[in-house]
Amino acid sequence: MTKPRYNRILLKLSGEVLMGEGGLAIDPTVTARVAEEIADVKAQGFELCVVVGGGNIFRGISGAARGMERATGDYMGMLATVMNALAVQNALEQIGVDTRVQSAIPMQSVCEPFVRRRAMRHLEKGRVVIFAAGVGSPFFTTDSGAALRAAEMNCDALFKGTSVDGVYDADPKKVATARRYDTIGYDEVLSKNLRVMDASAVALCRDSNIPIVVFNIREHGNFAAVLHGEGVSTIVQ
Ligand code: UDP
Repeated sequence: MTKPRYNRILLKLSGEVLMGEGGLAIDPTVTARVAEEIADVKAQGFELCVVVGGGNIFRGISGAARGMERATGDYMGMLATVMNALAVQNALEQIGVDTRVQSAIPMQSVCEPFVRRRAMRHLEKGRVVIFAAGVGSPFFTTDSGAALRAAEMNCDALFKGTSVDGVYDADPKKVATARRYDTIGYDEVLSKNLRVMDASAVALCRDSNIPIVVFNIREHGNFAAVLHGEGVSTIVQ
Protein backbone atom coordinates (compact mmCIF):
# COMPACT_ATOMS: atom_id res chain seq x y z
CA MET A 1 0.00 0.00 0.00
CA THR A 2 1.15 3.57 -0.68
CA LYS A 3 2.15 5.90 2.16
CA PRO A 4 -0.94 7.78 3.36
CA ARG A 5 -1.12 11.57 3.11
CA TYR A 6 -2.98 11.95 6.36
CA ASN A 7 -2.25 11.02 9.98
CA ARG A 8 -5.07 12.46 12.08
CA ILE A 9 -8.44 12.23 10.46
CA LEU A 10 -12.03 12.97 11.30
CA LEU A 11 -14.61 10.51 10.06
CA LYS A 12 -18.13 11.85 9.58
CA LEU A 13 -20.76 9.13 9.64
CA SER A 14 -24.27 9.98 8.48
CA GLY A 15 -26.85 8.40 10.74
CA GLU A 16 -28.15 6.53 7.71
CA VAL A 17 -25.06 4.33 7.47
CA LEU A 18 -26.16 2.64 10.72
CA MET A 19 -29.55 1.68 9.28
CA GLY A 20 -30.42 -1.85 8.23
CA GLU A 21 -32.49 -3.28 5.42
CA GLY A 22 -35.50 -3.86 7.65
CA GLY A 23 -35.83 -0.15 8.50
CA LEU A 24 -34.19 -0.50 11.93
CA ALA A 25 -32.80 2.96 12.81
CA ILE A 26 -29.72 1.43 14.41
CA ASP A 27 -29.00 -2.05 13.10
CA PRO A 28 -26.46 -3.78 15.37
CA THR A 29 -25.08 -5.91 12.52
CA VAL A 30 -24.60 -2.92 10.23
CA THR A 31 -23.12 -0.87 13.09
CA ALA A 32 -20.70 -3.70 13.87
CA ARG A 33 -19.58 -3.72 10.23
CA VAL A 34 -18.91 0.03 10.31
CA ALA A 35 -17.00 -0.44 13.58
CA GLU A 36 -14.80 -3.05 11.92
CA GLU A 37 -13.85 -0.60 9.18
CA ILE A 38 -12.92 1.95 11.87
CA ALA A 39 -10.98 -0.62 13.91
CA ASP A 40 -9.06 -1.67 10.81
CA VAL A 41 -7.92 1.90 10.18
CA LYS A 42 -7.16 2.46 13.88
CA ALA A 43 -4.97 -0.66 13.90
CA GLN A 44 -2.91 0.87 11.09
CA GLY A 45 -1.89 3.72 13.42
CA PHE A 46 -4.14 6.54 12.28
CA GLU A 47 -5.49 8.98 14.88
CA LEU A 48 -9.24 8.97 14.62
CA CYS A 49 -12.04 11.33 15.56
CA VAL A 50 -15.61 10.37 14.65
CA VAL A 51 -18.66 12.61 14.30
CA VAL A 52 -22.01 10.86 14.00
CA GLY A 53 -25.20 12.25 12.49
CA GLY A 54 -28.73 11.53 13.59
CA GLY A 55 -30.76 11.52 10.39
CA ASN A 56 -31.63 7.82 10.82
CA ILE A 57 -33.66 8.82 13.90
CA PHE A 58 -34.74 12.44 13.72
CA ARG A 59 -34.08 15.67 11.85
CA GLY A 60 -35.35 19.00 13.16
CA ILE A 61 -36.33 20.12 9.70
CA SER A 62 -38.70 17.15 9.30
CA GLY A 63 -40.31 17.98 12.64
CA ALA A 64 -40.68 21.61 11.54
CA ALA A 65 -42.37 20.48 8.32
CA ARG A 66 -45.04 18.87 10.52
CA GLY A 67 -45.62 21.98 12.59
CA MET A 68 -43.03 21.48 15.34
CA GLU A 69 -40.91 24.38 16.52
CA ARG A 70 -37.65 24.10 14.57
CA ALA A 71 -35.31 24.64 17.53
CA THR A 72 -37.06 21.93 19.58
CA GLY A 73 -36.83 19.54 16.65
CA ASP A 74 -33.15 20.32 16.28
CA TYR A 75 -32.50 19.56 19.95
CA MET A 76 -34.27 16.23 19.42
CA GLY A 77 -32.01 15.63 16.41
CA MET A 78 -28.94 16.35 18.52
CA LEU A 79 -30.12 13.87 21.16
CA ALA A 80 -30.49 11.32 18.34
CA THR A 81 -26.81 11.78 17.49
CA VAL A 82 -25.93 10.89 21.10
CA MET A 83 -27.80 7.59 20.74
CA ASN A 84 -25.87 6.87 17.54
CA ALA A 85 -22.59 7.80 19.21
CA LEU A 86 -23.27 5.32 22.03
CA ALA A 87 -24.13 2.63 19.48
CA VAL A 88 -20.85 3.22 17.62
CA GLN A 89 -18.92 3.33 20.90
CA ASN A 90 -20.49 0.05 21.99
CA ALA A 91 -19.66 -1.63 18.67
CA LEU A 92 -16.05 -0.41 18.80
CA GLU A 93 -15.49 -1.41 22.43
CA GLN A 94 -16.87 -4.89 21.69
CA ILE A 95 -13.98 -5.42 19.29
CA GLY A 96 -11.38 -3.99 21.64
CA VAL A 97 -11.09 -0.40 20.42
CA ASP A 98 -10.69 2.10 23.27
CA THR A 99 -13.09 5.03 22.84
CA ARG A 100 -14.55 8.10 24.49
CA VAL A 101 -17.76 9.89 23.59
CA GLN A 102 -17.86 13.66 24.04
CA SER A 103 -21.12 15.54 23.62
CA ALA A 104 -21.54 19.21 22.72
CA ILE A 105 -24.62 19.12 25.00
CA PRO A 106 -23.31 18.10 28.43
CA MET A 107 -24.93 14.97 29.88
CA GLN A 108 -22.51 13.79 32.52
CA SER A 109 -24.07 10.43 33.35
CA VAL A 110 -23.99 9.34 29.73
CA CYS A 111 -20.70 10.64 28.31
CA GLU A 112 -18.06 13.32 28.68
CA PRO A 113 -18.81 16.92 27.76
CA PHE A 114 -16.80 18.27 24.83
CA VAL A 115 -13.47 19.56 26.15
CA ARG A 116 -10.96 20.12 23.36
CA ARG A 117 -7.78 19.58 25.35
CA ARG A 118 -9.20 16.45 26.92
CA ALA A 119 -10.13 15.15 23.47
CA MET A 120 -6.55 15.82 22.34
CA ARG A 121 -5.26 13.79 25.28
CA HIS A 122 -7.56 10.89 24.36
CA LEU A 123 -6.13 10.88 20.84
CA GLU A 124 -2.57 10.89 22.20
CA LYS A 125 -3.48 7.87 24.33
CA GLY A 126 -4.67 6.03 21.23
CA ARG A 127 -8.40 6.33 21.86
CA VAL A 128 -10.99 6.98 19.20
CA VAL A 129 -12.93 10.10 20.18
CA ILE A 130 -16.57 10.15 19.11
CA PHE A 131 -18.17 13.59 19.06
CA ALA A 132 -21.94 13.77 19.57
CA ALA A 133 -24.59 16.52 19.41
CA GLY A 134 -23.02 18.38 16.49
CA VAL A 135 -22.05 21.92 17.45
CA GLY A 136 -24.59 21.89 20.29
CA SER A 137 -26.88 24.53 18.77
CA PRO A 138 -30.03 24.29 16.68
CA PHE A 139 -30.08 25.41 13.03
CA PHE A 140 -26.80 23.56 12.40
CA THR A 141 -26.07 20.07 11.16
CA THR A 142 -23.56 17.41 12.08
CA ASP A 143 -21.73 18.24 8.83
CA SER A 144 -20.94 21.63 10.36
CA GLY A 145 -20.10 19.86 13.62
CA ALA A 146 -17.70 17.61 11.71
CA ALA A 147 -15.99 20.55 9.97
CA LEU A 148 -15.72 22.44 13.25
CA ARG A 149 -14.26 19.51 15.20
CA ALA A 150 -11.89 18.68 12.31
CA ALA A 151 -10.53 22.24 12.49
CA GLU A 152 -10.37 22.34 16.30
CA MET A 153 -8.68 18.96 16.55
CA ASN A 154 -6.11 19.84 13.85
CA CYS A 155 -7.23 16.98 11.62
CA ASP A 156 -5.46 16.52 8.28
CA ALA A 157 -8.67 15.57 6.47
CA LEU A 158 -12.39 15.09 6.91
CA PHE A 159 -13.60 11.74 5.61
CA LYS A 160 -17.29 11.64 4.89
CA GLY A 161 -18.46 8.02 5.03
CA THR A 162 -21.73 7.59 3.14
CA SER A 163 -23.48 4.95 1.09
CA VAL A 164 -22.36 6.43 -2.26
CA ASP A 165 -18.80 6.35 -3.59
CA GLY A 166 -18.22 10.08 -4.12
CA VAL A 167 -19.59 13.29 -5.55
CA TYR A 168 -21.44 13.19 -8.90
CA ASP A 169 -22.43 15.94 -11.32
CA ALA A 170 -26.02 14.61 -11.15
CA ASP A 171 -27.90 12.08 -9.04
CA PRO A 172 -26.46 8.71 -10.16
CA LYS A 173 -29.68 6.95 -9.09
CA LYS A 174 -31.70 9.07 -11.52
CA VAL A 175 -29.29 10.07 -14.30
CA ALA A 176 -27.55 7.18 -16.09
CA THR A 177 -24.83 9.47 -17.51
CA ALA A 178 -23.94 11.02 -14.12
CA ARG A 179 -20.15 11.28 -13.66
CA ARG A 180 -18.17 11.05 -10.45
CA TYR A 181 -15.50 13.66 -9.75
CA ASP A 182 -12.09 12.36 -8.64
CA THR A 183 -11.27 15.79 -7.25
CA ILE A 184 -13.18 19.03 -7.18
CA GLY A 185 -12.61 22.49 -5.65
CA TYR A 186 -14.52 23.79 -2.61
CA ASP A 187 -15.81 26.77 -4.60
CA GLU A 188 -17.09 24.58 -7.44
CA VAL A 189 -18.99 22.46 -4.91
CA LEU A 190 -20.52 25.63 -3.50
CA SER A 191 -21.31 27.33 -6.82
CA LYS A 192 -22.84 24.17 -8.34
CA ASN A 193 -24.68 23.47 -5.10
CA LEU A 194 -23.47 19.86 -5.13
CA ARG A 195 -24.77 17.85 -2.22
CA VAL A 196 -21.51 16.95 -0.50
CA MET A 197 -22.00 18.59 2.86
CA ASP A 198 -23.92 21.71 3.75
CA ALA A 199 -22.46 25.01 2.56
CA SER A 200 -21.24 26.20 5.96
CA ALA A 201 -19.34 22.94 6.48
CA VAL A 202 -17.69 23.18 3.04
CA ALA A 203 -16.77 26.84 3.64
CA LEU A 204 -15.26 26.04 7.04
CA CYS A 205 -13.15 23.23 5.55
CA ARG A 206 -12.06 25.56 2.74
CA ASP A 207 -11.05 28.31 5.17
CA SER A 208 -9.16 25.82 7.36
CA ASN A 209 -7.58 24.04 4.38
CA ILE A 210 -9.04 20.65 5.29
CA PRO A 211 -9.71 18.32 2.35
CA ILE A 212 -13.06 16.50 2.37
CA VAL A 213 -12.89 12.91 1.16
CA VAL A 214 -16.28 11.46 0.22
CA PHE A 215 -16.39 7.66 0.05
CA ASN A 216 -18.60 4.62 0.57
CA ILE A 217 -18.04 3.23 4.06
CA ARG A 218 -20.39 0.32 3.49
CA GLU A 219 -17.95 -1.31 1.09
CA HIS A 220 -15.64 -3.60 3.01
CA GLY A 221 -12.03 -2.40 3.14
CA ASN A 222 -12.78 0.82 1.29
CA PHE A 223 -12.08 3.19 4.20
CA ALA A 224 -8.53 1.85 4.62
CA ALA A 225 -7.99 1.74 0.85
CA VAL A 226 -9.09 5.35 0.36
CA LEU A 227 -6.80 6.45 3.21
CA HIS A 228 -3.93 4.91 1.30
CA GLY A 229 -4.87 6.76 -1.88
CA GLU A 230 -6.52 3.70 -3.39
CA GLY A 231 -10.21 2.82 -3.52
CA VAL A 232 -12.92 5.04 -4.95
CA SER A 233 -13.68 8.51 -3.59
CA THR A 234 -14.01 12.18 -4.43
CA ILE A 235 -11.60 14.62 -2.82
CA VAL A 236 -12.84 18.17 -2.32
CA GLN A 237 -9.81 20.42 -1.93
N1 UDP B 1 -28.56 19.14 14.75
C1 UDP B 1 -28.54 20.45 15.22
N2 UDP B 1 -27.33 21.06 15.45
C2 UDP B 1 -26.15 20.42 15.22
C3 UDP B 1 -26.17 19.10 14.72
C4 UDP B 1 -27.39 18.48 14.49
O1 UDP B 1 -29.58 21.05 15.42
O2 UDP B 1 -25.09 21.02 15.46
C5 UDP B 1 -29.87 18.45 14.59
C6 UDP B 1 -30.59 18.80 13.30
O3 UDP B 1 -31.97 18.76 13.52
C7 UDP B 1 -30.18 17.64 12.39
C8 UDP B 1 -30.20 16.47 13.36
O4 UDP B 1 -29.67 17.04 14.56
O5 UDP B 1 -31.08 17.45 11.33
C9 UDP B 1 -29.43 15.26 12.93
O6 UDP B 1 -28.18 15.63 12.37
P1 UDP B 1 -27.88 15.52 10.79
O7 UDP B 1 -29.11 15.86 10.01
O8 UDP B 1 -26.67 16.35 10.53
O9 UDP B 1 -27.55 13.97 10.67
P2 UDP B 1 -27.07 13.11 9.39
O10 UDP B 1 -27.76 13.66 8.18
O11 UDP B 1 -25.59 13.26 9.29
O12 UDP B 1 -27.46 11.71 9.73
